[in-house]
Amino acid sequence: MNITRKRILVSGGAGFIGSHLCERLLNEGHEVLCLDNFFTGAKENVVHLLENPYFELIRHDITQPFFAEVDQIYNLACPASPVHYQYNAIKTIKTSVMGAINMLGMAKRVNARILQASTSEIYGTPTVHPQEEGYWGNVNPIGIRSCYDEGKRCAETLFMDYHRQHQVDIKIIRIFNTYGPRMHPQDGRVVSNFIVQALRNEDITIYGDGTQTRSFQYVDDLVDGMVRMMHSHAFIGPVNIGNPVEFTMLQLAEKVIELTHSKSSIRFMPLPQDDPKQRQPNIELAQQRLSWTPKIQLDEGLRKTIGYFEKIV
Ligand code: NAD
Ligand code: UDP
Repeated sequence: MNITRKRILVSGGAGFIGSHLCERLLNEGHEVLCLDNFFTGAKENVVHLLENPYFELIRHDITQPFFAEVDQIYNLACPASPVHYQYNAIKTIKTSVMGAINMLGMAKRVNARILQASTSEIYGTPTVHPQEEGYWGNVNPIGIRSCYDEGKRCAETLFMDYHRQHQVDIKIIRIFNTYGPRMHPQDGRVVSNFIVQALRNEDITIYGDGTQTRSFQYVDDLVDGMVRMMHSHAFIGPVNIGNPVEFTMLQLAEKVIELTHSKSSIRFMPLPQDDPKQRQPNIELAQQRLSWTPKIQLDEGLRKTIGYFEKIV
C-alpha cells in the first residue's frame, strides 16, 4: 500500500477546472472522490478517469450534507459562468453558502484540510488596480451578479469563521479568469464563446466597446497553484491565483481570429449589468508564499484550447 496516498474529495469535480484537478491528483497517486450534481459539469469530463480504481464519481448536490473519511477537500462546486449562475440565482447562492457549511462541517468532523475555490469576483468592479488580497472590493449586493459574488464572499467568511471558531484547517484561493480544454461550448464565457464562434466563422460577440480588460490564466497553471496552496504550511490565504497579463476583449477577439484563421467579423452587443471594467491580479503573495507563477501565456494556452474545441464543435 502507498502510505503517501491521500483520500481527497473534489466537489464540482466533473466541471471544467475540477476535472483537470481530479486528473492531476490521480496522476500523483492519490485516491479521489468526485462529487458533482452535473448542473454544468458532465460525465464526459471524467469518463477517462473511471477505469482508475482510485477514482469514485458520486452524484451529489452539496447543498445537502455529505460525509466521507477524507484527508483533504477541494470545494469547487458552483456554476462559474454568468449565464449559468444567473439561470437559477437562488440555487447559486445556496450552493456557495449551504455548500460551504456542509463541506466545512465535514472537514471539521473528519479533521480534513479544506480549500475554497473563491474568485476575483469578490473584488466586484474594482477601484484598486491591480487587485491585491488586502482590497475589500466594490460589489453590488443587489445586482444580477450578486448571487455569485456575495455567495462567494459569504463562503470566504464561513471559511474564516470555521477556522477561528473551530480551528478547521482552511485554505482560500481567489481564482482569476481561467480557460482551457473542457470548458462547456455553450458556457457563455468569453474565451469559449470567441473560439466556438471563430471556428464556425460566425460573428464574434463583443459586449460593450471591447475596452474592458481581463487577465486569462491557463487551467494547468491554476491547478498547479491549487495543489501548492493545499500543501502550503502556516498560510491560509486568501491568495490570488491568476495570470497578470491583461488584455482587452477586443485584443482577445483579434487573437482568436488570427489563431483560428477565421473569417468571422466582430459584432458589438450591449454590455451586461455590473460587468467589471478591469481585472488584473497582483500575484506577489502567491509568488512569495507558494513559489508559484503562471507559465503558460495566452498564445500557447489558446492554441491548446482551440485544439480541443476543433474536435467537439
Ligand atoms: P464549472 O461550471 O465547469 O464547474 C462547476 C462544477 O460544479 C460543475 O461540474 C457543476 O455541475 C458542479 N456543481 C454546481 N452546483 C453544484 C452543487 N450544488 N452540488 C454539486 N455540484 C455542483 O466551472 P469551473 O470554471 O470549473 O469553476 C469551478 C470553481 O472555480 C467554481 O467554484 C468557480 O466559482 C471557481 N472559479 C472559476 C473561475 C474560472 O474562470 N473558471 C474563476 C474564478 C473562480
Ligand atoms: N464577453 C464578451 N463576449 C462574450 C462573452 C463575454 O465580450 O461573448 C465579455 C464580458 O462582457 C466580460 C468579459 O468578456 O467583460 C469576460 O466575461 P466572462 O463571462 O468570460 O467572465 P467574467 O465577466 O466573469 O470575468
